[in-house]
Amino acid sequence: MKKCLFCDIEFDSIKDSAKFCSDVCRVRYNRISRKADTTLQDQEKSLLLQTMDVLGELKQVMSEFKLIVGSLVDSVQQKPQPETFVVGNRQKFEQYAKMKREIESEDAWDKLKLEIKNSTDLNGWQKRQLLG
Ligand SMILES: [Zn+2]
Repeated sequence: MKKCLFCDIEFDSIKDSAKFCSDVCRVRYNRISRKADTTLQDQEKSLLLQTMDVLGELKQVMSEFKLIVGSLVDSVQQKPQPETFVVGNRQKFEQYAKMKREIESEDAWDKLKLEIKNSTDLNGWQKRQLLG
């Protein structure tokens, strides 16, 4: 006794190689398995295409990222550093200090204070020393 691969029915056959109870089962079985194969291939194909798409996008993102990093590095290298530390004019500082010592009236001191505050020759520390 043999068992049909398609319908599971047991059958007798004189041929040892027989796998199906009938031609109908053989044809149906082959049609379905071929279809299954095709579907799998299609799935693999679309999966591969998707992977290639993702890789392509990644590649593009990476090159854009490289460009951004490159322009950032350029801008940092080319940008002149802002003058954050003002070197105070020592002569001006001593001049103002002398004026402060010799000052006689409150009015004159107020005037000098204003001048010191607005001076572009003195740095913050020097201004604090003179005004404090
Ligand atoms: Zn069958």
